[in-house]
Amino acid sequence: MAEPAPSRPILFGETHDSLSTRLAEAGEPAFRARQILDWVYKKRVADANAMSNLPARLRAWLGETYDLAPARLVLTKTSSDVTDKLLLELHDGALIETVVIRAPMLGVGSERSRKTICISTQVGCAYGCRFCASGLAGWKRDLAAGEIVAQLLAVCRLEDPRTERAREELASFDNIVVMGMGEPLANYDNLLRALTIVNADWGLHFGARRITISTSGLAPQIHQLAAEPLGFRLAVSLHGATDEVRAQIMPINRKYPLAELLPAVRAFSDKHGRMITLEFILIAGVNDAFEQARALAAIARDLHAHVNLIPYNTVEGLPWRRPDEARQDAFADILHRAGVSATLRREKGHDIAAACGQLRLQTETARADAKARQITQSVGAKGEGH
Ligand code: SF4
Repeated sequence: MAEPAPSRPILFGETHDSLSTRLAEAGEPAFRARQILDWVYKKRVADANAMSNLPARLRAWLGETYDLAPARLVLTKTSSDVTDKLLLELHDGALIETVVIRAPMLGVGSERSRKTICISTQVGCAYGCRFCASGLAGWKRDLAAGEIVAQLLAVCRLEDPRTERAREELASFDNIVVMGMGEPLANYDNLLRALTIVNADWGLHFGARRITISTSGLAPQIHQLAAEPLGFRLAVSLHGATDEVRAQIMPINRKYPLAELLPAVRAFSDKHGRMITLEFILIAGVNDAFEQARALAAIARDLHAHVNLIPYNTVEGLPWRRPDEARQDAFADILHRAGVSATLRREKGHDIAAACGQLRLQTETARADAKARQITQSVGAKGEGH
């Protein structure tokens, strides 16, 4: 797997232990690690010069040694249904997406909404699910652990630039879902390092049980994840309840067919005692037949899994469309009548290209068009000289 090559290491990718080691190598006492991490994660300060309880030489060393701003916010889009989408640019110009989804909490008053942050783990994706914008331009690289953590810090700064308010904002986040661009389990080591930082008391101190890792179905890594001590939640993108239908839209199914995937999911569920979520995007004429609903119900019952039905979100350049609402309801009814816990989600963020990867794709296309125009103009200018 290709690794990003930032000019300097990213501070947000350091654990307490690794930072202590680096500090010891630089001749600094170990307790400085905790002070620095407090500035970064508790006080949300990204400027080494503002870390006022550090000696001047250490502040200078931090600034010279580490990249403290690995993700630059280039675009924010807010949808009418209160979904925010952030487009972030990394040190090499790569673009990634981070999404904040707010859902009103019934009975708690209009002030409070449940906030979920959806983060990316790769630039592009190699898995080529047929319905997904992230896979359209292929895989470019894995994100470093610090780039994964940086997305959460970018959201905190977006909420309110004032440090004190930003701290409250992060405390009010309810969930993190690793469901953005890329296949998280294909970037396993960086993902686990990032989530360790997110979970640690010296880091963002965010409970593992409020973090959901969503995979397209990498069976060996699901087994690996089951053996980890931290009990994250697991969501599996099923999108087809038989190998025949699933393989049509998810090439990964050829490598890990249901006979391999489902036992891995069960092993995770047995180990952590958590209800798994099966994601199922409803695509008209592809996977919305009632036989699919019945097969899905059998799988979900067997795994004691919850099913999330998501009507397909149109992606520019792809031919699929969502079934009409009557069909969606009838599909959900089959699951409910079979005793399966299932939610039919009306997609959020439709008007801001919320289907993962679309905003990045649109921006990259616009950039490529602008570059092409520049080249054409300069060729035109040269042409005039001939
Ligand atoms: S759905 Fe996930 S695994 Fe499939 S192409 Fe999109 S980002 Fe990759």
